[in-house]
Amino acid sequence: MADYIYTMEIRLTPDQQRGVTLVQDTARAAGMNVYLTGGAVRDIISGFSIRDLDFTVQGNPLKLQKELERAGATMSGADDDLKTLYLVLPGNVRAEISSARTERYEKTGKPAVISPATIIEDLRRRDFTVNAMALSLNPGSRGLLMDPYNGAADIETKTLRILHNYAFVEDPSRLIRALRFAARFNWPLEERTQARFESAKENKYIEYITSKAIGREIEQLAYEDDPLNIIRALEKEQWLKVLDQHWTIAKVDTVGLSELLKTRQQMSELGYPTDPAAAVLYFLTAKLGDKDVSEIRRLIPRKDLVEAWRTIEDHAKTLAKRLSGKEASTPSRTWKLLSETQPEMILFLAVASRQKAVDQKIKNFFTKWREVQKKVPLLEMTELRITPQMAEYPKIANEVFMLLLDGKLRSHTEIMKFLKPLAPPPPPPPPPPPTKRGRGAKAAAAAAQATPAVVASVAGKGKKKGKVEAAVVAPVVAAKPAPPPAAPKAEKEKKKISPPKKANKAKHKPKAKALKTGKSKTKKAKKKR
Ligand code: ATP
Repeated sequence: MADYIYTMEIRLTPDQQRGVTLVQDTARAAGMNVYLTGGAVRDIISGFSIRDLDFTVQGNPLKLQKELERAGATMSGADDDLKTLYLVLPGNVRAEISSARTERYEKTGKPAVISPATIIEDLRRRDFTVNAMALSLNPGSRGLLMDPYNGAADIETKTLRILHNYAFVEDPSRLIRALRFAARFNWPLEERTQARFESAKENKYIEYITSKAIGREIEQLAYEDDPLNIIRALEKEQWLKVLDQHWTIAKVDTVGLSELLKTRQQMSELGYPTDPAAAVLYFLTAKLGDKDVSEIRRLIPRKDLVEAWRTIEDHAKTLAKRLSGKEASTPSRTWKLLSETQPEMILFLAVASRQKAVDQKIKNFFTKWREVQKKVPLLEMTELRITPQMAEYPKIANEVFMLLLDGKLRSHTEIMKFLKPLAPPPPPPPPPPPTKRGRGAKAAAAAAQATPAVVASVAGKGKKKGKVEAAVVAPVVAAKPAPPPAAPKAEKEKKKISPPKKANKAKHKPKAKALKTGKSKTKKAKKKR
């Protein structure tokens, strides 16, 4: 059977990988089998970007909540009936952990009767074959793909196929999901699925969608890379109205939404990735009445997303005010303020702001001022020994940048004039090589002139065998017709191993001490450097 661990590891971001490990270890510690399921597996195999992680455990995931929170996860919501946790794992990884279950539908539009189940049984309750796969995260079978409906083959042929003929009748929200996936991936419905889809439409099964499913599907719109594309597909079927009775494309701020997605792309290219979900919901519902908006908010399961959407306008107003005030009176102050602001807020304000001055500051932050950053003279700073090894380096580099931003350092001369006093003193010169005096030096000089055999015989008086061997090797190397620079080195070697010094250890003690000190001084000097 195929092992998908390698594929999973190369397709997940490092944060997502850490998220998988965290959930896997937490479930394992609680004695639950755990699987990666749903869209995450589909996207790993198909190569589409992995937006969030869906896990399924055999057991109750609500029992894992405390442990996950301890490890840095934050809870976004929970569904006690479905035993599902909505959470954000460290590194801003959106995840969902649900309990493996069967769903028995007794009547269209009525919630299913839920029972705990094995993972294979759980896969049978899923919507499309491409979403009905599980990847084991358990010891012994980690990486094993469970694919009872051959979803991998449907990914290969880019086909959306329901698992059985009653899929749309049992749960009409699958009609919306079919439309959404078809629009997102540009994958057609398989022939029989298409026929069932048409039949469900004719019979207006969509009207039986549950409010819980509405909340889930609206939330999913917020995570789409191109929500307008999906909105248009929904509008074509007149299903926006199904999600909220007053919702049409006319209630969407399509200009704002397009601008948001364009700006988000630009920010991402500049290294500012953002999660625009709250802003997307803002623009999607921009012209809906307050009552409709409140109802939609009530239905969305992730409460932190709802809160971010609810407060986005006020936060943007506050930021605009700060950007117009004293706090942002100079480019450097504005830079500082924007650097400390959540990128999501900058994104939203960049689109929603009506104040030219604010717009301009945000624009400068992403364009003009970033160019100024390149003018920080890193080369000259290195020459002045102002290097990242210095504790004050970030402060100095930032100060230069701030002064450049505010036009207070205009020329190279001015920059150097500012930097020079901040340069650390040059390191002390390395200590001279230790000079030998007295009998030891004489013996060394004699040794230097001696033939290898003589050296060996003198050195042989030393106590350690290894050192004698070394003494023999050094002169042999030196005796070779070596290139000029090698000769003094060999000379040095000879001095180092000068036998009389070793033989007369007691007498030469003070010298040995001096040598040691010299050595440690060199070390200290190196460290300082
Ligand atoms: P994405 O998150 O990329 O939009 P997804 O498939 O992960 O896609 P979710 O809504 O997060 O979508 O659902 C997770 C999984 O739960 C799905 O892949 C599917 O297996 C299952 N699922 C969700 N809704 C339904 C449904 N109405 N009927 C059957 N299975 C569903």
